[in-house]
Amino acid sequence: DVVLRLEQVEQVYGTGESVVHALKGVSLDVHRGEYIAIMGPSGSGKSTIMNVLGCLDVASGGVYRIDGVDVADLAENELAHVRNRKIGFVFQAFNLIPKMTAQANVELPLVYGGVGRAERHERAARALERVGLAQRADHIPQQLSGGQQQRVALARAVVTEPAIILADEPTGNLDSVATNDVLDLFDELAVGGRTIVMITHEDDVAERADRVLVLCDGRIVADRATGADMHRA
Ligand code: ADP
Ligand code: ADP
Repeated sequence: DVVLRLEQVEQVYGTGESVVHALKGVSLDVHRGEYIAIMGPSGSGKSTIMNVLGCLDVASGGVYRIDGVDVADLAENELAHVRNRKIGFVFQAFNLIPKMTAQANVELPLVYGGVGRAERHERAARALERVGLAQRADHIPQQLSGGQQQRVALARAVVTEPAIILADEPTGNLDSVATNDVLDLFDELAVGGRTIVMITHEDDVAERADRVLVLCDGRIVADRATGADMHRA
């Protein structure tokens, strides 16, 4: 059951002498429930591939399908719908709104989704509880540690129950204890059947995923199973 499919995807930035081929014919099938880590040196195309997978950018060549649908056939409002309903995003810099409480930050995707106030409150509270932060619901980001902020961001990513989680260096700003807390939550999401694609440059983080892809100069140069799924609870 293929959820995400890249077929010979190309991404070209710039024109003339400043042209950059960020992706050079990348093909990839991501199956439902798979947990994938993408590694590779700086400039190898990791962010570019994430931006394509998340429908934040349109590839300049090839085909990208989500659940079999070619995203090139979707209008902008349909793309926005895919981003809001099917995908949860997690970023290295957390990207929480500084003036809003943890609770309000987690409710935001539901506000955009048109969910009513009472249901919003309850679903966000449940998401915060799942990441172990029920007691911090009324704190604003600067009152929380980095690890706690990333757990709030994770609650925000999953509050809409998206099938796919895309995470760009989610542990890049965290110490080892907070990294482990966040990776334990990813394990729970994987056990729950979510499809996860995570960028990381740390080997021990990548080994927590089921499958590791290595990008180099815009191409996938390695693709292997880790066996992590055998040990997951
Ligand atoms: P990584 O995430 O692996 O560090 P990126 O996907 O950010 O790599 O970048 C891949 C290549 O594309 C790099 O050479 C980068 O400089 C270039 N690039 C990325 N985004 C842009 C952009 N918006 N405009 C021009 N070049 C870009
Ligand atoms: P990362 O830490 O993910 O490798 P980068 O520093 O490579 O991030 O890039 C961050 C963002 O900046 C990218 O997603 C891309 O959109 C943009 N970018 C990267 N390289 C360039 C570039 N040469 N020109 C313009 N924008 C770029």
